[in-house]
Amino acid sequence: MKYVFGPVSSKRLGQSLGVDLLPPKSCTWNCLYCQLGKTRAVATERQEFFPREAVLEEIRRALEVNTALDWITFVGSGETMLYKGIGWLITEVKKLTTVPVAVITNGSLFSLPEVRRELLEADAVLPSLNAGSEALHTRIDRPAPGLTFSKHIDGLAAFRKEYQGRLWIEVMLLGGINDSDEALHDLAAALKDINPDMVHLLLPTRPAPEQEVHLPSPERIQRAIAILSEVVTVVDPVKGSMNLQGASDLLKAVTAIATRHPVQQRELEKAIADCFEGDSDKAGRVMEELLETGTFTKVEHAGEIYWTIRVASV
Ligand code: SF4
Repeated sequence: MKYVFGPVSSKRLGQSLGVDLLPPKSCTWNCLYCQLGKTRAVATERQEFFPREAVLEEIRRALEVNTALDWITFVGSGETMLYKGIGWLITEVKKLTTVPVAVITNGSLFSLPEVRRELLEADAVLPSLNAGSEALHTRIDRPAPGLTFSKHIDGLAAFRKEYQGRLWIEVMLLGGINDSDEALHDLAAALKDINPDMVHLLLPTRPAPEQEVHLPSPERIQRAIAILSEVVTVVDPVKGSMNLQGASDLLKAVTAIATRHPVQQRELEKAIADCFEGDSDKAGRVMEELLETGTFTKVEHAGEIYWTIRVASV
């Protein structure tokens, strides 16, 4: 499978089959906290990076073997809406299955009417909003030139007016950056204008490209929930848990996930042990075998070990 990965299990979307429509890394932003690393060159031109029929064929094959899915989620190596033709894919997927379709996007292109139109048939859309001011938007998201804060807010608000599905905004809370009372009140004001169904608060629990990214304190997280809850329902920060039990090839399954984001070793060990009825010795041996393939490398972040894909030296 080139475009489809998982299913991945998370508390937000349950058992979710991922569809990645982008060559790594293609993004309109270069976020401080991006788990994919730095954006070498921001992109704004929408393209059909891969033939849409080939993507659809993979989804069709994945649906034949994965019968207990909660969501099909378009998400991947950058900004999903850079893929031109996602609207066609959503329409065609909905002809194949009743499994609902979600799109995870940074929302930076929502000022374009054609982008908003392509999303109208999705069951849930999860765009990002990390700041309530131009200054913080620039500092955190580091967007491509021209993708201003006001354009971002106007695009999200316009989409809300046109879209009947579930609009769940994702807010990445960064310690010392956007967790002050002032930043949170600005964010609440922007959310009030947009009027989403819900906000998912996220935390930078995975290794980030920039040193200044830190977890907020438990007090600031509670404060964020309190301030944002005045205008919208807020879902507490949750960490997804991995499920590998449906995987026929563990190396391929773990590689597919680690290509998209670092995998916490502790979480991986548990997911592998679950494949062997909780046998942690067996899980340890399987993990050693996976490491021996030379596919992964270990990095430390905030006292946790993560596995990432080893980059071949040239
Ligand atoms: S929008 Fe997502 S993929 Fe793009 S830089 Fe930010 S976190 Fe990374």
